[in-house]
Amino acid sequence: MATGQPIKMYLTIFVATTCIYMVLYQYHVSRQPMPQVEFLKAPPPPPPPLYIITPTYKRAEQLAELTRLGYTLKHVPNLLWIVVDDANHTSPLVIETLNRIGVPYEYFLAPMPEIYKHTKKAKPRGVSNRNRGLDYIRANATDGVLYFADDDNTYDISIFDQMRYTKKVSMWPVGLVTKFGISTPIIRNGKIVGFYDGWIGGRKFPVDMAGFAVSVKFLHERPKAKMPYKPGYEEDGFLKSLQPLPLTEIELLASNCTEILTWHTQTKKNANATALNTNVHGGTNLVQLDKYLVRA
Ligand code: UDP
Ligand code: MN
Repeated sequence: MATGQPIKMYLTIFVATTCIYMVLYQYHVSRQPMPQVEFLKAPPPPPPPLYIITPTYKRAEQLAELTRLGYTLKHVPNLLWIVVDDANHTSPLVIETLNRIGVPYEYFLAPMPEIYKHTKKAKPRGVSNRNRGLDYIRANATDGVLYFADDDNTYDISIFDQMRYTKKVSMWPVGLVTKFGISTPIIRNGKIVGFYDGWIGGRKFPVDMAGFAVSVKFLHERPKAKMPYKPGYEEDGFLKSLQPLPLTEIELLASNCTEILTWHTQTKKNANATALNTNVHGGTNLVQLDKYLVRA
């Protein structure tokens, strides 16, 4: 036998085996599912928009309150913060604060009517502001949900994702209200059977401003709904202006009103800062800092 023949044979076997392997491998690859290409998938639709109406006014705490609330809202997607200042002039300090926080916002002025400013009795605080916010929503929003978030309260962010799906009006408990420490619908067997609040005052809806949200579509169906200039009766008057609103149609949030996710915190009132003596402190950082001291 010639010496070259076994080498030829081995080479032939080697080439044939390699070819078979390649064919089998190609077949295997062709049967693998295509890898998922994430970016080709359509993104989930955005959640319904939230319109958060916040009344504010010039006083020592103003920028601190807006900062605290603003960074809470920054955790919430698809939200428009409607900040309404009870003032005759826009405040560059408020605008600077809102820009720094970076939550999408609108800033409007809505001064309290003069007749209420000079009364010795309780004032309708934040009413002109909230009605201005409602006007904006009527003119600019078609769907989603509105909520009145005062600047001095505390909000757990989960309540925002719950209120987003409100069909008509939703309600939930608010902590730190009156001597009862809470204001809430009373629920028995999943139904509202009354309201728990240290001051009922003959109200049909004795709830706190921080304890309810309203669907924008529902608001559009009630073109006359607004908040009355009636201290103590702002929530009740507004909710009554949304009637017909049977208690059975009110949606209950915070696990059927068994959790506290919002608080009527209130803030200690600070006096206006005394004037800076620029004769003594001129040319120091105190001059720049003084610009951030809000004096009513
Ligand atoms: N507010 C206002 N003008 C005022 C007093 C209050 O715009 O003269 C705003 C305030 O910033 C807050 C809301 O109205 O967002 C409710 O006011 P406040 O917290 O003083 O009232 P309370 O909650 O005690 O009823
Ligand atoms: Mn308050």
